[in-house]
Amino acid sequence: MVVSEMDPYAKTGGLGVVAASLPAALAKQGVKVHLFLPHYACVQERRPQAQFREGVTVHFVDHPGYFQRSGLYGDRRGDYPDNLERFSFFCRRVLETLSAKGIAPNILHAHDWQAAMSVVYLKTLFKTEPCFAKTAAAMTIHNLAYQGIFPKESYPKLGIPWELFAIEGLEFYGAVNLLKGGIVFADAITTVSPGYAHEVQGIEQGAGLDGVLRSRANRLVGILNGIDDVSWDPAADRVLASGYDDRSLSKKKQNKAVLQEELGLPVSSKAFLIGMVTRLAAQKGFELLIEALPRFKALGLQLVILGSGDKGIEEALKKAVRRSNWMRVRFAFDEALSRRIYAGADAFLMPSLYEPCGLGQMIAMRYGTVPIVRATGGLRDTVADADSDKKMGKGFCFEPFTAGALTDAVERAMKTYKTPKLWTVLQQRGMSTDFSWDQSGKEYLRLYQRLCKGLR
Ligand code: ADP
Repeated sequence: MVVSEMDPYAKTGGLGVVAASLPAALAKQGVKVHLFLPHYACVQERRPQAQFREGVTVHFVDHPGYFQRSGLYGDRRGDYPDNLERFSFFCRRVLETLSAKGIAPNILHAHDWQAAMSVVYLKTLFKTEPCFAKTAAAMTIHNLAYQGIFPKESYPKLGIPWELFAIEGLEFYGAVNLLKGGIVFADAITTVSPGYAHEVQGIEQGAGLDGVLRSRANRLVGILNGIDDVSWDPAADRVLASGYDDRSLSKKKQNKAVLQEELGLPVSSKAFLIGMVTRLAAQKGFELLIEALPRFKALGLQLVILGSGDKGIEEALKKAVRRSNWMRVRFAFDEALSRRIYAGADAFLMPSLYEPCGLGQMIAMRYGTVPIVRATGGLRDTVADADSDKKMGKGFCFEPFTAGALTDAVERAMKTYKTPKLWTVLQQRGMSTDFSWDQSGKEYLRLYQRLCKGLR
C-alpha cells in the first residue's frame, strides 16, 4: 500500500482515514499489508497515538529535505513547488526498499496522484526486477479533482524515458500528469464508490481524464468506503449527553436539546434541525445552500453548520447568519462538536456538486440522522430516496444542482418528519445498515485475487 497520508500519523482528509481503515480490514481477511508513508515532521509527535495492528506493517520513507516541513503538500503560500520531486522520490524509494528487503508483493496498491508514480516505476524502471515478477498494480482514485499536474520542464526529474511523455503516457495538454500515469499503467483502477466510477467516465466529472478512464473502463471498478463503526457508535460515544441505539431513539432527543442549547438556538423538540459537518469547499454545494437560505428560513427549520476551509464561503455564511435565530455556524475542525451534531440533528445535509464516496451521510445514518443529499457519486449509492422507494428509502435525494431542487427535498423531509412513525422507520433503516469496512475489505480482496490470478 503506497499512500501519502494515514491516520493518526498524518491526515488532511478522507484519504488518511481510508488509509488507516482499509489495511486493517484487509488484515482481518488474512492479507499481509506493508504500508509506505513519507516520514513527515508530524509523524514523530503522533506516533504514540498509533495502534499496532496485526498483519499491518507501516514503513516510513525518510528524506528530511523533502518531508520535515510544516505541511504535507503545502503551506500558507500554496502547494510546495517541489511536490513532483518529493512524491516521485517517495514512490521510487518504496520499490527500492521492497527490493532491498526482499519483499515480493502480490499487489502494489497506490492511492491518489502522490502514489501514482509507484505504479509507473513498477511497470517501467523496475519491470525486470525478479522481486516484482508477480506483482500486479492497483490504482485508487479518491478524488479526481487532484491529479498532480506539473510543467513539462519537470518531466526529466521523474527519471523515465521521454517516450512516455505521450498521449498514451503521462502527457496531459502539454504538461505532466502523475495520476494519469498511474491510470495508464495500473492493472486495475478503482474509485471509492460505484456511482463515481461511472461518473468519472463522463465529460462533466472526468476532469479531463474521462477519455483515458473510458479507454480503461474494463479495468475500472467502484468499491464503496466504509466507516469505523466502533469509533462511530451512538451507543458508545462518550462525547454525547445521552447514548442511544435503534431501540432507544427517544434518547436522541436529549442530544438535540443539548446541541440547541450549546449553540444558542431556541430549544425545541419540534423544530426540524438540519446539521452539516463539512469542508467549506465549492464541491460541497455551498452555492446552492446560500441561495436556498431565505427559503429555509421561511420553512421555520433550524440549521447548524460546522465547517472549515474556504474563506469566501466562510464570509458568505457569516453574512447569512447575522441576526438570525434559526441558524448557527462554527468555523473549526472539531470532531467532538461533529459528534454532537451527528447525534443531535434530525437530518444531515450534503448538497454536493460531486461526491466520490462521502462519509458524512454514512455516519449520520449510523446516528439515526436522516440524510438529505444530492444524488451524485457515493451519495446516490448509499441513500435511497424515501418517497420514491418506500421499502428501502433511507433519506431524501435531489438531482438537479439547483436551490429549488434542494429546497424541495428539504420540504419533503420536513413533511415526513411530521409523521414520527414514518420518520422512525427511516432512522432505523439507516441505523441497521452495515457501513463497516468488512464489506469493502472483502471486495478489495476479491479484486486482488482476480489480479493475482492474472484475470486482468
Ligand atoms: P471529504 O473527504 O470530501 O471532506 P467526506 O464526507 O468523505 O468528505 O469526509 C469528511 C469527514 O471529515 C467526515 O467524517 C466529517 O465528519 C469530517 N469533517 C469534515 N469537516 C469537519 C469539521 N469541520 N469538523 C469535524 N469533522 C469534520
